Amino acid sequence: MKRLYIFLLMLIVAGAVNAERVKVRLFSNNRVELIYVSFDLGLYDLLANDTMMLESMLGEGMSVEIKPTVSGTVSVSVNGYDYGSYRNVVLRATDTACIMCLNPKGIKQRTYEGNLVVSAFDKSNLKVINDVDFETYLAGVVQSEIYGKQSDIFRIQAIISRTWALRNMKKHKADGYNFCDYVHCQAYQNRCVRPDIMLGTMQSSGETIVDAEGNLIDTPFHSNSGGETANSEDVWRSARPYLRSVQDTFSYRMRQSEWTKVIPRDKWLGYFSKTHKLNIQDTNVRNTLLTFAQPHRQAKIMGVQLTRVRTDFGLKSTFFTVTTDPKNGDVVLNGHGYGHGVGLSQEGTIRMVGLGISYDSIIRHYYSGAQIHHDDNVSEQYVQNFVTEISKIIEEDNANPGRKKSKKDDWLGKLFRVRDRMDREEEFDPEKQEMESDWKIEW
Ligand SMILES: [Zn+2]
Repeated sequence: MKRLYIFLLMLIVAGAVNAERVKVRLFSNNRVELIYVSFDLGLYDLLANDTMMLESMLGEGMSVEIKPTVSGTVSVSVNGYDYGSYRNVVLRATDTACIMCLNPKGIKQRTYEGNLVVSAFDKSNLKVINDVDFETYLAGVVQSEIYGKQSDIFRIQAIISRTWALRNMKKHKADGYNFCDYVHCQAYQNRCVRPDIMLGTMQSSGETIVDAEGNLIDTPFHSNSGGETANSEDVWRSARPYLRSVQDTFSYRMRQSEWTKVIPRDKWLGYFSKTHKLNIQDTNVRNTLLTFAQPHRQAKIMGVQLTRVRTDFGLKSTFFTVTTDPKNGDVVLNGHGYGHGVGLSQEGTIRMVGLGISYDSIIRHYYSGAQIHHDDNVSEQYVQNFVTEISKIIEEDNANPGRKKSKKDDWLGKLFRVRDRMDREEEFDPEKQEMESDWKIEW
């Protein structure tokens, strides 16, 4: 049992390097009129107004219903039995491996780890907060923010998401939490359920991106640069030495490399005339608006910010060329890439990882002059042990591709079994015994 305890403690500490826990508002883009919570793994306590109501009683087969009341409190019932109304209700995980399933009325269900804190904004909207280990949150963000197969893709996304989060811990301070779960902060649409994403996130433990002075940098990213990234000042006014336009052929021939949009000629010209007061009767002005080309990214078209044009026409990017359809005169925009174009291109990253380029080279390609900082407080031995175990899980998965998986048969459930196994092997595996003493030194 001692071994399990050490492992659990290590888990907690590994997440405690720079930020121990974070509070993330869930379903922040919706109104939550009512939420049902069930429990997939582990046991939870129920607390109301910070007082224990049910200790380690909530688990599989139990269901909690929480809804706002007219007086601004929340009412809570467990398996249909009314427990009254309170300022706040907390569902507290009793272990590091606890999973709850959240079912808000009219919204797709999601699962999360950590604790849930529920209060009311008003009589028809709940404030649902996930109080969770920072690294667990990050793994969920990585899963929501990027697609791919190789663990280095996830490692890179984890580093930029960790750097962003550490720089923006106070973003929602006035609201009483750290982040929302929407793109306003970083998408966190579910807990991480994929062992390969967990592996990449773990491999990045303690890694952040810093400038030459060692300060955490801004780490904007986008889906696809279209072949060239943008200068930060062309998109957001402020220049950053590490957010410079770079050639990015790695973003070619990916899902979001190209787009086309057809706009009626009158609408296109009328927009510049009415909204931006350009004289479209002038042949030069009209010609420029109808033949605008960007062999390299530009910031403006006839003095109008391309970011504004992008917003007003709902374009995928500002990196486009204008032509006209010879048949009907319609304006045809042929565009490259998807997103603001500043910083890292996710699809360029996916391509680079596929080509075998190292994760730190990729980060330096997109963030000019920046470097990866390794936190000395993170135990390399611990990370290595965890990575080894998760890699075994992935190998087992790959060896049995058609195997039917149960609800709990994902990385956390497996991790639970890994920890059990480590615990058991302690008594008769001298090699593992030695490993444990290494861990103790790390402590
Ligand atoms: Zn936010």
